[in-house]
Amino acid sequence: MIDIHCHILPNMDDGAQTLENSLEMAKTAINEGITTIIATPHHKNNQYINEKSSILEKVNDLNAVLKRENLPLNILPGQEVRIYGEVLEDYNKGEVLTLNHTKYLFIEFPSSSVPRYAERLLYELQTEGIIPIIVHPERNKELQEKPDLLYKFVKNGALTQVTASSVVGYFGKNVKKFSEQMIEHNLTHFIASDAHNVHNRTFKMTESLEMIKENFGMDYIYLFKENAELLIEDKNIIKEIPERIQRKKFLGIF
Ligand code: FE
Repeated sequence: MIDIHCHILPNMDDGAQTLENSLEMAKTAINEGITTIIATPHHKNNQYINEKSSILEKVNDLNAVLKRENLPLNILPGQEVRIYGEVLEDYNKGEVLTLNHTKYLFIEFPSSSVPRYAERLLYELQTEGIIPIIVHPERNKELQEKPDLLYKFVKNGALTQVTASSVVGYFGKNVKKFSEQMIEHNLTHFIASDAHNVHNRTFKMTESLEMIKENFGMDYIYLFKENAELLIEDKNIIKEIPERIQRKKFLGIF
């Protein structure tokens, strides 16, 4: 199994702080049946700046340690880019890194809102041949309130990644419900851990896929697993036609 979103690189962001932490995470991942992880440090989210060159270097270092420790886990380079106006310029400057050097790029929105320029940026990335993947939209307040906005992004070619622990219920009932609605309405294409450590923000991949299997059937498990494989090979992923999430109005309150 491939995990396309993980903060396993040591001392880069709020994920693993030390090499010891990285190795703990590696062992937990292996126990869950994960064979490949895309390391996706935060970039330009006010707190952390992790440019392409430093990520590539750290990925090489960690792979060497994993090999030495006989831990069967392969780390690929990636980045979690907080949306900002100059993403495309910085991509052209070589500071922004796609997932495993493919056409797929992680885009993170702030947790409470969606910037007004998001629609245009998602469009412009695609005109340059980059396919944006919106990470954990289920945790964004504005998208929770306006799922039609998410529908529009997906209809216009953006992909999305739901976090495994959201499906399990770690971020609360509403986030869990929204995650399930996204799966049901073909509004998400990947399930990934977004693991930061082995304690409060761990992998939960096996548990979440088990839940998805029970609620939606085995087809979804194949779909999510296959999409992660297609992604790292830079192939086109499987997309079903997105549907709108209908919210029932009750006394004027959604
Ligand atoms: Fe993340």
